[in-house]
Amino acid sequence: MKCALVTGGSRGIGRAICVEMAAMGYYVIINYKGNEAAANETLALVKEKGSSGEILKFDVASKEEIASVLGSWMEANTDKYIEVLVNNAGIKADQIMMFMTDEQWQGVLDTSLGGFYYVTKQVLNAMLQKKYGRIVNVVSLSGLKGLPGQVNYSAAKAGVIGATKALAQEVGRRGITVNAVAPGFIKTDMTEGLPEKELVSMIPVKRFGTAEEVAHAVGFLASAGAGYITGEVLSINGGLYS
Ligand code: NAP
Repeated sequence: MKCALVTGGSRGIGRAICVEMAAMGYYVIINYKGNEAAANETLALVKEKGSSGEILKFDVASKEEIASVLGSWMEANTDKYIEVLVNNAGIKADQIMMFMTDEQWQGVLDTSLGGFYYVTKQVLNAMLQKKYGRIVNVVSLSGLKGLPGQVNYSAAKAGVIGATKALAQEVGRRGITVNAVAPGFIKTDMTEGLPEKELVSMIPVKRFGTAEEVAHAVGFLASAGAGYITGEVLSINGGLYS
């Protein structure tokens, strides 16, 4: 059975990606960190699309949890193969550098960059053996442009962009593509509380994006037909930055 693993699939962009994967016919593994109710809501939406899936709780910032939970899942489910991996889980802890704590720096780095590394490493070998795979990393405008107050977040996302380009070159010959999507301002819990009116005035499309619009792009990059696109970063920002 072909599966798509979406990290941070319980809410926001990750949830919309899970629904998109379900519409593409994948069995969806919905990873989450703590919000089990939201993860179950996503699973219900996956089932509404006529597909199936399950929720899988592990912290992408924890090498040990990834090895024990995801590793055990893979050992116990040899009939299932993770063909699509979407590294979506991410957090922000905004603060100007002057006042940033080590915890704010490390937490954001461990989740986005560390999560990319350890989760991808866990599933990559099976993709290499099958000679097919699609890896899509959810990065950010912040990782391309850099945003003040987000030195940690910008560094983490820029790191994942570099890793995307490097890994794409390592695994291209094995039928595996590695791409990234870089959303601008998308309406989710993460952007709650931002001065939307003020920000919208700077966005050519004059609105925040939707999680579904990001998911649509992820679905394209995850499709079999996108096999000649790799190492790319696709901006989804309403024209804010190119
Ligand atoms: P969100 O609404 O805050 O949702 C975050 C998701 O990530 C939740 O499902 C959460 O799980 C999960 N998560 C957080 N830390 C985790 C961890 N350590 N291990 C496993 N799961 C974890 O965020 P979002 O706006 O959808 O953002 C999704 C991705 O898009 C992030 O990588 C973010 O950086 C990126 N992005 C967002 C925007 C935007 O404007 N929203 C823009 C650019 C990039 P729980 O429900 O269990 O907490």
